[in-house]
Amino acid sequence: IDPRSAERAPLPRNMIENSMFEEEPDVVDLAKESPSYPIDSDDAVYEPRSSRLLVRGLGENDLDEDEEDYESSARLLGMSFMNRSSNQRNVASSYTRQQYSESCLKPSTKTTVVGVLILVLVASMIMVIYFLPGCTFTRKGCKKSNSTMDSIYPISTSGEPFPWTELRLPPSVHPVHYNISLHPNLTLMTFQGSVSILVQVLHETKNIVLHGSDMNISKVTFEGKEVHVLEYKPWQQIAIKFPEDLKKGQYVLNINYTAQLSNSYDGFYNSSYVDTNGTKRVLAATQFEPLAARKAFPCFDEPAFKSTFTIKLTRERKYISLSNMPKVKTTDLKNGLQEDEFGKSVKMSTYLVAFIVAEFIGVSNNVSKTKVSVYAVPDKKDQVQYALDTACKLLEFYNTFFEYDYPLSKLDLVAIPDFLAGAMENWGLITFRETTLLVGSNSSSIDKQLVTSVIAHELAHQWFGNLVTMRWWNDLWLNEGFATYMQYMSIETVFPELDMDTEFLNVRFKALTKDALNSSHPVSTVVSTPEQVEEMFDSVSYEKGASILLMLNATLTDGEFRKGVIEYLQKYNLSNTESEDLWNSLFQVSPFLSEMNLWCLQSDCISLFTRTKQRVVLSMIKAVTKLNNVHFYIMMKHSLWHIPLTYVNDSCSVPSSCKQVFHLKDKTATLNLPDQVKWLKFNFRSDGFYIVHYDEEGWKNLIDALKGDVTVLSCKDRAALINNIFALSRSGKVSFRDVLNLMEYIRNETQTAPLTEALFQLGQIFRLLDKRSEFNLASRMTSYIDDHFGSLMESQSWDLESSVSEMTLRSALLEMACSLNIRNCSTQAKHLFDQWFISNKTFHDLMRTVFKVAAQTDEGWGKLLDIYKHSINDQEKRKTLEALASTQDIRKIIWILQRSLDGSVIQTQEFPLVINAICKNFAGYLYAWDFVKENWDKITQKFPVGSFAIQSIIMSATSQFSTKTRLTETQNFFTSLGTNGSQMRIVQEAIETIKLNMRWMEKNLNALQKWL
Ligand SMILES: [Zn+2]
Repeated sequence: IDPRSAERAPLPRNMIENSMFEEEPDVVDLAKESPSYPIDSDDAVYEPRSSRLLVRGLGENDLDEDEEDYESSARLLGMSFMNRSSNQRNVASSYTRQQYSESCLKPSTKTTVVGVLILVLVASMIMVIYFLPGCTFTRKGCKKSNSTMDSIYPISTSGEPFPWTELRLPPSVHPVHYNISLHPNLTLMTFQGSVSILVQVLHETKNIVLHGSDMNISKVTFEGKEVHVLEYKPWQQIAIKFPEDLKKGQYVLNINYTAQLSNSYDGFYNSSYVDTNGTKRVLAATQFEPLAARKAFPCFDEPAFKSTFTIKLTRERKYISLSNMPKVKTTDLKNGLQEDEFGKSVKMSTYLVAFIVAEFIGVSNNVSKTKVSVYAVPDKKDQVQYALDTACKLLEFYNTFFEYDYPLSKLDLVAIPDFLAGAMENWGLITFRETTLLVGSNSSSIDKQLVTSVIAHELAHQWFGNLVTMRWWNDLWLNEGFATYMQYMSIETVFPELDMDTEFLNVRFKALTKDALNSSHPVSTVVSTPEQVEEMFDSVSYEKGASILLMLNATLTDGEFRKGVIEYLQKYNLSNTESEDLWNSLFQVSPFLSEMNLWCLQSDCISLFTRTKQRVVLSMIKAVTKLNNVHFYIMMKHSLWHIPLTYVNDSCSVPSSCKQVFHLKDKTATLNLPDQVKWLKFNFRSDGFYIVHYDEEGWKNLIDALKGDVTVLSCKDRAALINNIFALSRSGKVSFRDVLNLMEYIRNETQTAPLTEALFQLGQIFRLLDKRSEFNLASRMTSYIDDHFGSLMESQSWDLESSVSEMTLRSALLEMACSLNIRNCSTQAKHLFDQWFISNKTFHDLMRTVFKVAAQTDEGWGKLLDIYKHSINDQEKRKTLEALASTQDIRKIIWILQRSLDGSVIQTQEFPLVINAICKNFAGYLYAWDFVKENWDKITQKFPVGSFAIQSIIMSATSQFSTKTRLTETQNFFTSLGTNGSQMRIVQEAIETIKLNMRWMEKNLNALQKWL
């Protein structure tokens, strides 16, 4: 799956998330202490010849949870009341800058006292009720525990005990083959289904338990005899009980059922769009990963229950149908219907099954033995060629790279008009959003980069995920980390002009940022509930997974990594694996790896280093508190991380051949250097997954070198220095003055990676200041940016198309200039919009910026809305929508929020994008947050709790808060959700982010006053 549904950078990279190196009691910073400081020999090594030793922790954000300010809590009562009753308030004025103040809502002392008393009383009652068992208030009262079977087994819908007590299915029965017949009715939006499952009983058992959800089961037969079925809805399980043990062997289970085509974005769902003639068209498509195959047909819906499938679809003549395998025959039925039958599939997991009934047309091409086709709605048939050419080239690349040919005779790529994820890798039938597959004459080079990335990602899944599948969702990174890594690797080789290198660097920065949070998790994590499974689709599985694979590849010698991967695919094809299986395959090709242990399965693969004179002292301490679940067991045995630490120095620093490696195997180590070395840069090209800190002298030498000549380091190394120093300043390890010192060199910088990273970091600070109403500082930040980037901004051309790298830089510079309203940017953008509107509307990368400027006037906004409604280019539509949502007019903001949630005018799939775009600006971000809170139930009906969409919505809405009031309010809201979201990891991340923002503000506001 490719989750880029909300925006190109899926989770907002909050600047403060980087603040991972906070004070913790077991860390000694001898840079500030005298040498006689008592050092625990286990944690630090005293290095006698040096005057300094720095030992740093690996990122426990030691925030004080208990510290409560009762006064502000009482104030908050008034605040949250206001938020809840926002229907009655004058929304147009509630969120203006003037009214944003914590103190304006302060109630009188009397009100506060009464309020607190009432709160205490209510809270006590709730606690009493909460701790009493639910049966206390029922007519029957409570039964004594363990007196009957009822208290052990869950109760099924019919009132009988359900014979299974776990979320995971029993291992005693396995599916061998499914025959599935489906007849979707696209007028009534229902479907009839019949599934016949050949099962293998592996251990004698009295029960068959499988998944089934949201369906009416009409008849169940087992070996031809009708049997009774039990259903336990909370776990989406159904079961058949037998009076006697089933002997080992194969049996046939038949289930007939009916169901609604789903209105959300998972299961077998209905979708509609309006064609260019204004006619509404409907279609039915599927999205099963991770847990929704069970909504389309009863099945053993876990990735390890692999099986073969034969699928038949009944449809009206005007539609076509598609499934994983090629169509083998079509039969005429009565009533003018037809039934398509597809070939027997390869052995695969249920989440990869897919089918579509729609009015699509496609184009095809052959790559070795595979027919590759791209399908879209007829209006967009001229937008499919780019995807077809790209998919063919990439398929050839992967066939060669993996030394294992794609095993099916066909591969379809289909653009679905209404689709939530970015794309889904169903075997042989990959589904996409239109934005991520179609390329029209209006598409820009950056749009092509996105389409190519998503295709490369999904094609890589045909091997990593489809051919070899993780055994359970805890190892999702084996799918997603690999597909993400392969997507960058393949494009770098096949389409070098797309500059994926810089994109991948940004992805690694993002992964480090997220991983720095305490609430982050190891790439492999225990998951059991549906929400936890949904939550695995986050940037750790994708981006951290990919970063780790890059580090591995960079560590191994040429070809070893590929050899290990080929070995892994050969060994485990058509079966399931765990992380260890991959490590073992890699260990076999590289003895060195076997020494590395499994350090990267842990969270925070982050370390800090410092240098002193000609010796470098390297130190690290494990974040032991995180090693608290079973999957850490192996790592606990080897309690150290072995890091292949790379570095370059002033004598040789840019070509790959300069790279030197130091294998860090202990918590501390000493690296001896020749006397003449002037400076060192660790983590060559930022290929390793760690942040580097130098001591004062180390930073100074690097900065001096850069001020003299920027080319002493590669542009990736320069970008990494910028990224790292911002992270370190937020943790208080370097002063903000040091950040500004490094930034002085930026006036000589011309390359995309360092400049976009600097703009991103400064933009984050600007937004935080703006949202806190620190307008004086925000305007000084504007001047600072103008001063340092202004001449570069002015030198950008508005109309020339150039390389992806240059366009990326140009977009970042001009978007910043226009949003800060400097260097005449807005005037030029307005002019360009007017020209564009009356001309042939050729599109290019700067249109995002141009549209955002145009959307600030009533007239421009109206024109853009019109374009949004009528455009048949999805990329253009999204850019238009982002601009519409960037308006400062609160009435328009409210309108967009409502229309995108109810799906009229604006597709609901765009709701996360809308929230993200609105929250970037001061005008709407508080309203958007209120809207999310008030409509939480509706939102979670559309997007599953824990899903990527929900993660994005929460982070967009809350990640810029930096006050205690907002913190408490956010905590209260999520606590109030109970089972509908309070347990999500993203909630912990959101709260931690706000706390870090608060602390960063405390530490740095004064420094900013002084230095900015
Ligand atoms: Zn994926």
